[in-house]
Amino acid sequence: MRSQEKYERLFSFEFYPPKTEEGVVNLQLVQQQLAELNPDFFSVTFGAGGSTRDNTYEAVLKIQNKGVDAAPHLSCVASTRENIREILERYHDNGISKIVALRGDLPSGMMSAGEFRYANELVEFIRQETGDHFQIHVAAYPEVHPQAQNGIEDLKNFKRKVEAGANAAITQYFYTAEAYFYFVDACEKEGIDIPIVPGIMPITNYSQLFRFSEMCGADIPRWLRKRLECFGDDRDAIKAFGLDVVSDLCRRLLDNGAPGLHFYTMNQSESTLAIWKNLNL
Ligand SMILES: Cc1cc2nc3c(=O)[nH]c(=O)nc-3n(C[C@H](O)[C@H](O)[C@H](O)COP(=O)(O)OP(=O)(O)OC[C@H]3O[C@@H](n4cnc5c(N)ncnc54)[C@H](O)[C@@H]3O)c2cc1C
Repeated sequence: MRSQEKYERLFSFEFYPPKTEEGVVNLQLVQQQLAELNPDFFSVTFGAGGSTRDNTYEAVLKIQNKGVDAAPHLSCVASTRENIREILERYHDNGISKIVALRGDLPSGMMSAGEFRYANELVEFIRQETGDHFQIHVAAYPEVHPQAQNGIEDLKNFKRKVEAGANAAITQYFYTAEAYFYFVDACEKEGIDIPIVPGIMPITNYSQLFRFSEMCGADIPRWLRKRLECFGDDRDAIKAFGLDVVSDLCRRLLDNGAPGLHFYTMNQSESTLAIWKNLNL
């Protein structure tokens, strides 16, 4: 359970590229507040369409220009070798040294999956094209990826990404610490030797969380669901209870060797700052 303790702790915050002017202004403020916590990096998600991809690029450069390490996400969906090569070149030339490499999910209505089928192929390509320049992070699923045949196959597929050259992993969010502990044990038995940083989703809005979790296969345990349902539309009560639950989860993870935390901020700072304060980090 403590096999991850040997790694240096990594703390990071994830954002999505804003689509509106108001969103840009909000994100600037949020990032300013979170930068004060001295994270190892800020990461920015990557969508399937061309314009959202430009937004990722712009958001990444803004972060980097403010002196915080930025880690752009890259995905296989609708990507060709040629356009991934161009993106890598642009990032390389702008001093970016970290990438989060993913398969992505095909949006409904989009037919072309792209030239890479799985994230391990993208990792391999990044290594082929750029050698050791980028520190590559990949996704991991302590509760098993929703499309995986089973947990064993999913673990084997995770190992492919590590063998292709991933340096670290960030997990899908979860609320059951044991899922993480059993997962890192299984990874150790498979000879997977990289830091696996838990992804943390603060709880602020039950219906949104429920929808999200259904889509990405993250489990909200029954006891938590039932308690959250009781709060109805009382956002303050949900936030207060969520803060307790997620702070406890983070504490247990760190106390038992998790090599850091990656926060899915949803471009908000309040809950992440409150959890951070509770953890005395
Ligand atoms: C930290 C994090 C950040 C994310 N950021 C983004 C983002 O910015 N943009 C976005 O669109 N999505 C993002 N996602 C979502 C992610 O793209 C989805 O979860 C997607 O469904 C899987 O991506 P992956 O990289 O894990 O895929 P993969 O590792 O390719 O796995 C996908 C599925 O295929 C199976 N598989 C993998 N390799 C093989 C193989 N060689 N042969 C057969 N089966 C295989 C796996 O078991 C799994 O079921 C993120 C997820 C996480 C955890």
